[in-house]
Order: sequence, then C-alpha cells, then structure tokens
Amino acid sequence: MDAGSEDVPTDFVPFNQPYATGKELGYAAEAQRGNHLSGDGQFTKRCHRWIEERTGCAKALLTHSCTSALDLAALLLDIKSGDEVILPSYTFVSTANAFVLRGAVPVFVDIREDTLNIDERLIEEAITPRTRAIVPVHYAGVSCEMDSILGTAERHNLKVIEDAAQGVMASYKSRALGAIGNLGSFSFHETKNVISGEGGSLLVNDPKLVLRAEIMREKGTDRGRFFRGEVDKYTWQDVGSSFLPSEITAAFLWAQLEQAERITAGRLANWNRYHEMLAPIEQRGALRRPIVPPDCQHNGHIYYILLNSEADRQRVLDGLKQHGIGAVFHYVPLHSSPAGKRFGRAHGELSLTTSLSKRLVRLPMWFGLSEAQQQRVCDVVRTILLN
Ligand SMILES: *Cc1c(COP(=O)(O)O)cnc(C)c1O
Repeated sequence: MDAGSEDVPTDFVPFNQPYATGKELGYAAEAQRGNHLSGDGQFTKRCHRWIEERTGCAKALLTHSCTSALDLAALLLDIKSGDEVILPSYTFVSTANAFVLRGAVPVFVDIREDTLNIDERLIEEAITPRTRAIVPVHYAGVSCEMDSILGTAERHNLKVIEDAAQGVMASYKSRALGAIGNLGSFSFHETKNVISGEGGSLLVNDPKLVLRAEIMREKGTDRGRFFRGEVDKYTWQDVGSSFLPSEITAAFLWAQLEQAERITAGRLANWNRYHEMLAPIEQRGALRRPIVPPDCQHNGHIYYILLNSEADRQRVLDGLKQHGIGAVFHYVPLHSSPAGKRFGRAHGELSLTTSLSKRLVRLPMWFGLSEAQQQRVCDVVRTILLN
C-alpha cells in the first residue's frame, strides 16, 4: 500500500458472503455413497417435506432456480401468446421472462412508496379481458398486501403466482410467503438467505395442480407416480422439461434448511442493528430507512437505504467503494429496459418505480456480518451524507 492511501482501511466488507453450515459437503458425499445422484432421492424428499411443513403448501418441488420455478408455473397455468400478466417493473428479469417465454405480455404496475412492492390499489385498473395472472414480488422478504391482491384475483378470476424468491422464512399475517397464492416460488441462489449455489422451489398451493406440476417437472412423464407404485410403467403424459436438480444440490440445500431458523435470526439481528444505527441519520432527513408494515414478518434478506437524490446515491456508492465496502443498487426498472419495452406494457406513469429505483442503495448483508463492520458502514454513510 502506498503512503497516499494510508487512511483507506484494509478490512474489506463484502456486499455478500455466502454462508456455509459446514455440513453441506458431508451430505453431498452421503448422496454419492448412496449411489443416487440424479434428482428426487432422499435429500430432495427431505427438502420437499421441510418446505411443505414450514409453509403449508400442498406440494413443494425443487427446481434448478427460482427462474425455472417461475417458468414451470407459467407452463402449468397454460399461459399463452397474447395473455397478459400483471407484475411490478421494480423486480428481477425472471419475474417477466417466465411469461414472455410463453408469448404473454407483462403489464407493469407501479410500486408502493413504503415497501417498494406492487401497489395493490393499481392492479384492478390494469386488468383487461386478456389478463390471466397477477405476480406479486415480495421485495426484501417483506410481503405484498396479499389479502387485497387475492380479493382482486378472485373478482376477476385470475391466478396469483408469488415471486417469493426473497421470501424464505418470511410471512404475511402468519401465512408463509410463497404459500398464499395459487403458486409460489423460492430461490436458493447464493445471494439469497438459504442457498444451494443455484436452486429454487415451486410451491404448489392448489391441490388440483399438484399431479400436473410433478409431470411437467419430470420431462412430461409420470415418473413420480411410477416410483410411488401408483402405475406399473411411466410414459409421456404432457408437455414438460427437466426442472429437477440433482441430489448433490438437494444435499447441499438440506444442510442449509436444517439451519434456516438460525440463519434467519442472525440476519434479522443484523437488519435491526442497521436500523438502529441509521435512525439518527434518518432523523436529520438525509436518508429513509426500510418500512415494514405490521402484518409482515420479514427475514432480513436486504437492508436498503433510500437517498434524497440520484446524486446522493452516487456519492454514497462511490464513498462506500472507496472505503472497501461492497454496496449495490437495485433494479433497473423492467419497463425502461430494452426487452421490457419490446415485450411489455407500462400501466400508467410508474413514477414511484422510476424515482425510488434511482435512489436506493443496498448495504452489505450476510449471516456473520459483525457489529464492528456494520458500525464502519454506518460511519461512512454518515460522513458522506452529513459532512
Ligand atoms: C433472485 C430472484 C429471482 C431469481 O432467482 P434465481 O434462483 O436466481 O433464478 C427472481 N425473482 C426475484 C425477485 C429475485 O430476487
């Protein structure tokens, strides 16, 4: 290090640090010793049971990712060319792609100022005779206003598919996220709370969809029924593809699910600590902290701050980087992206989506982040904003 950079601390604080419980590779070795490496072995079954017991969904089905769970959901609901699907523009691309792949048009609705979730009051007016489904995204593991969304869906005979990629272990009025709509999806990507590298799950809440979901996930065959002894051979039953992960992935995930409660508690402690440390800066009007409505129990997935302007946001990002602190922004709104303009339609102005997405910074957040590290992050934020 040269003399001019003496004041730059060397203790880098990464934005994310994937947590390992220590049991992942042992379980993967166990899967190998058992000579069952393809999907739907003992570890997959354990993961399915855990998700079903924890969430109350009728059937959990592990997939390669949340993206592929959403792809499977769109297939399962027979979403087709010309259909419309209502979702926020402030989300990850997979929320829209799953439906665009089937030829549907994503209709983007603005978000709420407090939670950054889809504004449930704007959904009804975005519905047309072509609308088939609503896809609420639970941003930062904080639930959308699901009672209102379910009511709208019921009045207009629409399906609800929850993008609960960020919502593992979070709930709305004591109901687990992902298990509230007709279908839900989880992500176990390494950036999420509970991980398997890449990974995800479809949550089937409507019992009438379970058998077809199993078939579509297994290349369109009834292999599941065959292994349960319900049929004497398995054959091609429906359209489908390979959506199931290997036992290696499921074994890794099982080690994480066993510890999901501890991981969530640790992240919530980190989240609450940021919230306390940043309160005085919010009182000075220099930033806004996340807002969690009383009906929502979140899971400490993301800690973000909202700045007063895009210029402030840039100063904070630059300053944190200079101090060796990893921080990122979130999302470039889909309606403003090249593919979003080509495939989708914005409902109204989406002014909150545009304004909020330009002012948001996500701070480092991972299991094991220390109080000293969080203090350093907050000190840097304070110096940038209040000096
Ligand atoms: C992470 C994420 C996804 C994609 O999850 P993968 O498992 O990486 O496919 C989809 N939607 C949202 C809201 C996400 O945060």
